[in-house]
Amino acid sequence: MERPLDCLIIGAGPAGLTAAIYLVRFHLRVLVVGNGMSRAAMIPRTHNHAGYPEGISGPDLLARMRRQAEIYGADFENTEVIRLEQADGVFSVVSNDAAWRAQAVLLATGVTNNRPRIGSEDHDRAVARGLLRYCPICDGYEVTDKRIGVIGTGKRGLAEARFLRTYSSDITLISPDGPHRLSRNQRRELDDLGIRWVDGEYRPLRISGNAIYAASRNDELEFDTIYPALGSVINSGLAVTLGAKSNREGCLKVDKHQRTSLLGLYSAGDVTLGLDQISHAMGQAGVAATTIRNDLVELRPLVRSNPRGA
Ligand SMILES: Cc1cc2nc3c(=O)[nH]c(=O)nc-3n(C[C@H](O)[C@H](O)[C@H](O)COP(=O)(O)OP(=O)(O)OC[C@H]3O[C@@H](n4cnc5c(N)ncnc54)[C@H](O)[C@@H]3O)c2cc1C
Repeated sequence: MERPLDCLIIGAGPAGLTAAIYLVRFHLRVLVVGNGMSRAAMIPRTHNHAGYPEGISGPDLLARMRRQAEIYGADFENTEVIRLEQADGVFSVVSNDAAWRAQAVLLATGVTNNRPRIGSEDHDRAVARGLLRYCPICDGYEVTDKRIGVIGTGKRGLAEARFLRTYSSDITLISPDGPHRLSRNQRRELDDLGIRWVDGEYRPLRISGNAIYAASRNDELEFDTIYPALGSVINSGLAVTLGAKSNREGCLKVDKHQRTSLLGLYSAGDVTLGLDQISHAMGQAGVAATTIRNDLVELRPLVRSNPRGA
């Protein structure tokens, strides 16, 4: 049977690709398996990622990182991993049409944003045009002084609206369906901050011209941009099913070297608890890759044979 891979990386976003670059440059055998759903692929143009003064699109950044990993020998598979198992210290990673064995696995599967009501094509068009945005930390600056809608309610909706108040005096918090779930204190805080709050309706968002519209009970509200504050699904199921520890939301728990609670299983990026940002995903991935290399040395010496055969 073929020797297991040194490391299989599940996820080809900024975290998985950064880890791949490090690991292949440690002369390790690496396979990256991704199903093409990186959140970074949705970024029209990031302006807060250091090193690109004019900004860079998410797909462009991903393509550059992938090319960098390939130059040094990383292999890629475009498919979905459906099962992760471990026996005798070796992982089996299974997709619908293939299976691989690996000494170490890095889970870099990210999160999936819960979407507001809007057709899939309209959604993608709205994100591409900046009419719909998911990350105020990333691009709140771009909507300074614009008319901003936030779809959400309760603590999460309030937090997002409060954050965006830094950027604009024109903020409206719209509940996703029916009456807001806000305590008296939360309503007072919104009033004090000058944030409107409106009960939304169960109707899809609509794009027209340069604006995006959200339905309220008796009206349609026009915005320059809308931020959904509806939470996300943490893509940690493969690891949690195997027994890795997570918090209540599903974020994987890792030590300061990105080890999960399972020996040989590491994690980096949005799927772990922390700031959901490209820079953070990359930083965690660098740490994870170096830890994987150092832990593999404990299993077998990583020594290079002499290319001249002496
Ligand atoms: C619209 C938008 C704009 C953003 N703008 C910015 C910005 O300007 N600056 C910034 O720093 N951040 C921004 N972000 C956040 C940024 O995209 C994420 O923090 C970053 O992509 C996280 O990287 P990651 O590698 O952890 O996860 P992801 O990029 O989401 O990658 C996850 C990978 O896992 C794969 N995957 C998941 N499950 C499986 C499975 N079962 N089998 C195989 N593969 C699987 C996916 O295909 C994907 O390749 C933005 C996000 C969005 C949605």
